[in-house]
Amino acid sequence: MSANKTHPWTILLECRQQIPCDPCTTACKTGAITMEHLTDCPTFHPEKCVGCKLCVAACPGQAIFFQVPDAGDGQATVTFPYEYLPLPVVGQEVSAVDAFGQPVCAAVVDAVEQRPAFDRTALVTLRFPAEYREQVRFLKRLTREVG
Ligand code: SF4
Ligand code: SF4
Repeated sequence: MSANKTHPWTILLECRQQIPCDPCTTACKTGAITMEHLTDCPTFHPEKCVGCKLCVAACPGQAIFFQVPDAGDGQATVTFPYEYLPLPVVGQEVSAVDAFGQPVCAAVVDAVEQRPAFDRTALVTLRFPAEYREQVRFLKRLTREVG
């Protein structure tokens, strides 16, 4: 998957199972995500995407990612839902992992977004070397500091 020619960002739809599910299509107000049948994998139409990230927050399967493949200085970013506490903070150094929880590389927290439109889901954006953009999908879960 790569950036589209329409925007500097792209939406990665990594819906791996054909299950009856479609919140991504209803969350997207511009028709940029469609699906013919409820059990189909969704299709992304980049020319209709406005980059609102509502689909990322709405997917119950954590299967949608907002990616900037070239964020400058050889870096990329990826945005995903993070539903644990404590939340990371901007500037924090974390360990980026792949979709299976395996370590990939070091990353820096670029943004933590908590908008009413995202309901109670926080979206976390990581910045990391662009060579890892096909792998990085999450961060190693943070633990509370004791003491
Ligand atoms: S980012 Fe917004 S406009 Fe783009 S596909 Fe997701 S919900 Fe639709
Ligand atoms: S909401 Fe997520 S899991 Fe459901 S169809 Fe869309 S991408 Fe797949």
